[in-house]
Amino acid sequence: MERYDIAIIGTGPAGLSAALTAKARNKRFVLFGSRSLSAKVEKAHTVANYLGLPNISGEDMQKTFLSQIEDSGIEITEKKVTLVYPMGDYFSMQAGSDIYEAKTVIIAAGVTADKLLPGEEEYLGRGVSYCATCDAALYKGKSAVIVGYSPEEEREAEFMTEFADKVTYIPMYSQEPEFSSDSSDSDSSDIEVIRTKPVSISGGMKADTMVTEDGELRADGFFILRESVTPGQLVPGLKLDGNHVAVDRSMATNVPGCFAAGDITGMPYQYIKSAGEGNVAVLSAVKYLASK
Ligand code: FAD
Repeated sequence: MERYDIAIIGTGPAGLSAALTAKARNKRFVLFGSRSLSAKVEKAHTVANYLGLPNISGEDMQKTFLSQIEDSGIEITEKKVTLVYPMGDYFSMQAGSDIYEAKTVIIAAGVTADKLLPGEEEYLGRGVSYCATCDAALYKGKSAVIVGYSPEEEREAEFMTEFADKVTYIPMYSQEPEFSSDSSDSDSSDIEVIRTKPVSISGGMKADTMVTEDGELRADGFFILRESVTPGQLVPGLKLDGNHVAVDRSMATNVPGCFAAGDITGMPYQYIKSAGEGNVAVLSAVKYLASK
């Protein structure tokens, strides 16, 4: 398996800026995220405070970022990282059903405003999961409820139909979900879409019930698919400062070889601060690699 010098998690301003400098420094790196980059860039109406791009719309800023990344020959690996495991002198990462390895990691995953549901953390690994692609096979002939915070998660629900007998999908966004079947084994007509708001998860030894604003849903598994997982869930042992990752001025975390940049390190939440921190984080990772 290829072991990268640097793994960058996130395609917002922090992750993209880190990737550009990693490329300039000729490092072997992998950039995880999405070609739609970041909803927080795309959704901004007008951005007045980004140096060099005055009064640009979020949508145009996103296009400018993407074309710079493409022109630099940087590839985006369209996968969500669900776990980063420190292995001593390298990190092992779970992304979908694949495992990646890198000597250093930069967490540029942004922040999520969504609070964990009561019961979610308690049942994590016992009927609650953050990755349908990783765990779908465990639900052969069973039932699953998938809570999707972005349309991208509709693909996870489709994948789940290849295994589970019953799939219920709760979209946490306004667009109507559009399921398309690109696999002969998947039958997206089996997906029941419910518009409701999850309230809590409960059960016995394993989670078996999701309480929603409109009643209870019983199932064998509950998949909570947010755009970002909390940093403590992403990297076991990471020192936090409230909801943020604690870093020093070099963007180093308490885990050797692990750096963080952008909103995830704390306020102010700003594009230029995120891009600047991405740059500092990757230069610190380069220095760390040289010291080894
Ligand atoms: P984000 O932009 O949040 O990007 C993080 C990326 O990481 C996302 O693409 C996410 O999908 C991806 N990701 C998360 N977890 C994973 C994972 N596990 N695996 C793979 N990928 C993952 N700031 C300004 O300076 N000026 C403005 O005018 C302004 N306007 C704004 C308007 C709106 C509507 C909003 C919501 C925010 C605005 N902001 C503005 C704030 C700005 O959007 C954020 O500060 C900035 O986007 C943070 O960049 P980031 O790279 O840290 O994270």
